[in-house]
Amino acid sequence: MTIEYLKKASLTSKSDASDVQETVRAILADIEAGGDQVALDYAAKFDRYEGSIILSPEEIEAACALVPEKLKADIRFAHDNVRRFAETQKATLTDVELEVVPGVITGQKAIPVDAAGCYVPGGRYSHIASAIMTVTTAKVAGCKHIMACSPPRPGVGVAPAIVYAAHICGADTIMAIGGVQGVAAMAFGLFGLPKAKILVGPGNQFVAEAKRMLFGRVGIDMIAGPTDSLILADKTADPHIVTTDLVSQAEHGYNSPVWLVTDDRALAEKVIEMIPAYIADLPEVNRDNAAAAWRDYAEVILCADREEMAATSDRYAPEHLTVMADDLDWWLDRLSCYGSLFLGEESTVSYGDKAAGTNHVLPTSGAASYTGGLSVHKYMKIVTWQRGTREGYKPVAEATARIARLEGMEGHARAADVRLAKYFPDETFD
Ligand code: NAD
Repeated sequence: MTIEYLKKASLTSKSDASDVQETVRAILADIEAGGDQVALDYAAKFDRYEGSIILSPEEIEAACALVPEKLKADIRFAHDNVRRFAETQKATLTDVELEVVPGVITGQKAIPVDAAGCYVPGGRYSHIASAIMTVTTAKVAGCKHIMACSPPRPGVGVAPAIVYAAHICGADTIMAIGGVQGVAAMAFGLFGLPKAKILVGPGNQFVAEAKRMLFGRVGIDMIAGPTDSLILADKTADPHIVTTDLVSQAEHGYNSPVWLVTDDRALAEKVIEMIPAYIADLPEVNRDNAAAAWRDYAEVILCADREEMAATSDRYAPEHLTVMADDLDWWLDRLSCYGSLFLGEESTVSYGDKAAGTNHVLPTSGAASYTGGLSVHKYMKIVTWQRGTREGYKPVAEATARIARLEGMEGHARAADVRLAKYFPDETFD
């Protein structure tokens, strides 16, 4: 490869030193031992909140009443798109049957987990869209009990629009609790709730670490790091759009990498020149996030041609991947490592993040090299079954007994022997 870094990151997410693990381990252990009251104490400590944790129907109604009608319509629009996309995904998971040998039927069924815990981040921004993405997919999957939790604003509670979104998307329980204590409440079944069988949703490093530590006791969608985004752009790309989109993703957080990969030096130089003014133009918090992310984590990479651009992108395996280049079909066909792909200038990650219908809970930190993002399938257990006739199972029993004996598993072999002896008393088997 002949790639040239016109800007190189000085930090990577992995060099982000922290004692997060210790903190999370201690909080989880405390809450598991102490239950509801300890979770309440942590909510008071971290979020300065002492109101009710499980919102009553009246509290939900009151919160919903605070949401402007236009925003409600937008949330319903986004919900409808996410729901229909999820329903289409679900239709690809059909039950199957195979008569593996004459008289023996094997099958596969997809069964939704019964209780899902959806984490809706709410520390820095009010992630309304995360409520839509996680709750809607759980509902379409068919989970019987869907819990949603989100950190309360000090003294106020969960942002009303998050409550509205979780409610209309199908949450059975909405909780004003965030961080490790929110995750623990759902996983341990605090406050009289069922224990979640799967924990889903994005969150900060404390939330991600709590999910990672609980994995095994419960399922999780993925281990999520900071959001990352890559843009592939050739000489046909508009530098104004490229710069705007890079900045839009850098605002996620101080450690959210954005990468530009191009084969056009003039475009790269133009974007590098324009970025500071675009960042400076953002509101304060967003500006600080984007400025730090650009300074420490962003990269601009010059490649020789589109094949090298595609190979570079696949190596990064970005969470979000945008292509602003000629011949979009070639890119769709060629690229293989990304959480979600946005083809053409008309499309943008923001659409996928908020309202276009595809899910925004996506693999970060290179995990797109081995997994996709949140989908209906993550809430489904793919289980198998079998049944058959005595005759049909006869060759299976003979093979099983021989294989088991060679393995030294005499008990397994006898489970086959006893059936052969009962159903075929006049025959001998070796
Ligand atoms: P958050 O809800 O994830 O975290 C807030 C909670 O963190 C608080 O309730 C508090 O309990 C806990 N906390 C804060 N400081 C703590 C400390 N020192 N010790 C223990 N607990 C502490 O909200 P956030 O912080 O704004 O983070 C949201 C994250 O979600 C961001 O990283 C964002 O990029 C990510 N996100 C990702 C996607 C995606 O699809 N990948 C979508 C939306 C958001």
